[in-house]
Amino acid sequence: MYMATVDHRASLVIGQKARFDPLTDSNIPTAYFQFATYETIQRRINETRILTDYIGRVEKNSILSTRTGKQLRKTRTRDEMGREVEITLWPEKRHLIGDDVGPGDIVAVGSTIVTEHNGLLQLESTYLTIVEVNPDMPQAIELRALPSIPFAETQEKKATILELQLSSQQNIQSSKNFICEARIKEVHGDRGWFYVLCSKCSSKLFPELHDGKLSFVCKDDDEITPIFRYSVNATIVDATGSMEAIFFNESMQALLNIVCEDMVTRHGDSTNPRAVPQQLKSAIDKPSLLHVTLKNDGKLVVNNASWITTTTSDQPTGNISGTSTFTPTTPALKSSTSKRPLQESPGQEKRMKRA
Ligand SMILES: [Zn+2]
Repeated sequence: MYMATVDHRASLVIGQKARFDPLTDSNIPTAYFQFATYETIQRRINETRILTDYIGRVEKNSILSTRTGKQLRKTRTRDEMGREVEITLWPEKRHLIGDDVGPGDIVAVGSTIVTEHNGLLQLESTYLTIVEVNPDMPQAIELRALPSIPFAETQEKKATILELQLSSQQNIQSSKNFICEARIKEVHGDRGWFYVLCSKCSSKLFPELHDGKLSFVCKDDDEITPIFRYSVNATIVDATGSMEAIFFNESMQALLNIVCEDMVTRHGDSTNPRAVPQQLKSAIDKPSLLHVTLKNDGKLVVNNASWITTTTSDQPTGNISGTSTFTPTTPALKSSTSKRPLQESPGQEKRMKRA
């Protein structure tokens, strides 16, 4: 898969006639960067086919552990205008920024993918990512001369679903972040509930079924590792109303306490990847705290989430008094006829389907 690392069209084709001459000059740079501006980075959100270079000043640098015990690095930076960009180095690249790197250091990163995380621009490492710490470049000198700006603790306001609906109807110019107390009412599996990316080119993989075993293939690459990400469409409700939301990977992983890959391979329906596993439906009807972003197209995405634990009991439906009504399940939510790894008792299943 072709991924552009620079924005011009020229390319080198190395054929049998190509000849290599060693260079003796020792002042050859080991890396080439074409730094993107903040505005350019914004335009590239979720445009996984363009690799992005960036230079910024470190404000915070830390290692995080995932639920599967893998360690990744989060480096929060600011650009020359003081705007925040978060760099995420996945486990295989986390060593590229050392633990000794801290506030005031300059990092140049190459070949990252732009995503959004908790309403912040995020640059995620790829297979090709390179990093230079405190590079000898004019941009680094400028960044170093700027004053340090500490991060605000949180930019999120609390909002009800009604308030979110009203905000989405207003013509807002940029994405906004909120915290919302709500519960998932229904999970929509018709558009799928996860996607799979190629570890080499980051494009979407295609499901293939061989002898009842599901695998994911890249149209260009062999020997890849599929990267599974939740993307769950669901209806969320609170006392003020209901709204459609997309739960991104981090939020679903936090709620279900299981990484997407395990959910697919252990609990998914191998003959129908779109069938929502029973284990995922266990997230329905429990009070949760949702960190959401209201996009400027009116879409609501859930970046992160946690359960609201009640003081009396952990049972999700035990605390609801009188207000819940039994609604028949829609055909889309009916479990498929294929085997399930764990058989729930009929009583449990009935409870899960209560709306
Ligand atoms: Zn690929």
